[in-house]
Parts: sequence; structure tokens; C-alpha cells
Amino acid sequence: MRLMRSTDLALRALMRLAVAGDVAPTTREVAADMAVPYTHAAKVVAELQKLGLLEARRGRGGGLTLTEAGRTASVGALVRSFEGEGDVVECEGPTPCPLNSACRLRGALRRAQEAFYASLDPVTVEDIAASPTGPLLLNIASRDET
Ligand code: SF4
Repeated sequence: MRLMRSTDLALRALMRLAVAGDVAPTTREVAADMAVPYTHAAKVVAELQKLGLLEARRGRGGGLTLTEAGRTASVGALVRSFEGEGDVVECEGPTPCPLNSACRLRGALRRAQEAFYASLDPVTVEDIAASPTGPLLLNIASRDET
């Protein structure tokens, strides 16, 4: 199962913020650290803010900070939220599959999709920002200051 780019980017941004400590990086800095275009990062940051996982302060001295909900957020819940509950294959659409009305594969794929999400449910943002990822993130972030 392949995740959308925005889902992975959301997780990257949360990991980056999880190690930020007292520093509040800007969206531009997060985009640069995670090697993604600013416009993509800005869209994801807005979505994460809407979900209450980060706070964004504008202006001088502003920046992004992870909320407590963001720190303890379940990776599974976040991936579900970004990916939606749609099927992993397109059974309907403009050219519906002829097996659509009685397909056992569709049910099997749905169960596999749910198992994939369920395996990510107990994993938190804090977990995925732990060592060795955390020190690497800090090393990448320190390049901003040079
Ligand atoms: S074979 Fe089944 S799972 Fe695949 S597209 Fe057709 S209905 Fe969907």
C-alpha cells in the first residue's frame, strides 16, 4: 500500500517538530529540512493545525510548535485521516470493474487495509521521532543555523 505524498509529509513535519524543543521552526524551515516544496509543506501544516496537532504563531519570533495532542497522536489515526477510507483499488469510477457486485478480492483488500492501519494505531509521533531518527532530525535542523 502506497501512501500519498501529503501523508508522508505530514508525518515528516510532525517528527521534525517533535524534536524542536523550545525552538519554533517556520514552515519554510520545515519545508527546507524535509526537502519538500514550501507550497506542499504549507498545505500540510494548515491541515495539521486544523486537526489540533500543531500551533502556528505568525510574525517575528513566530513559528510552529507541536501540541500535546500532536506529540501523542497515533500514526494510524493520522494516516487514516490523510488517506481517507477509500478502497485501495478503484472498483467503481467511470469504468466500473465488472466483478464489482460480487468480488471477494475487494473484501480481502479492505481487511488488509484495515490491518495496515491497525498496525500503526499504537505508534505515536513521539515514537517515530525517537533515536536514531531524532538525532538525525536535529542534525538536519542545525544546518538552518549555519
Ligand atoms: S476485481 Fe474486485 S477489487 Fe479488483 S477492481 Fe474489481 S471489484 Fe475491485
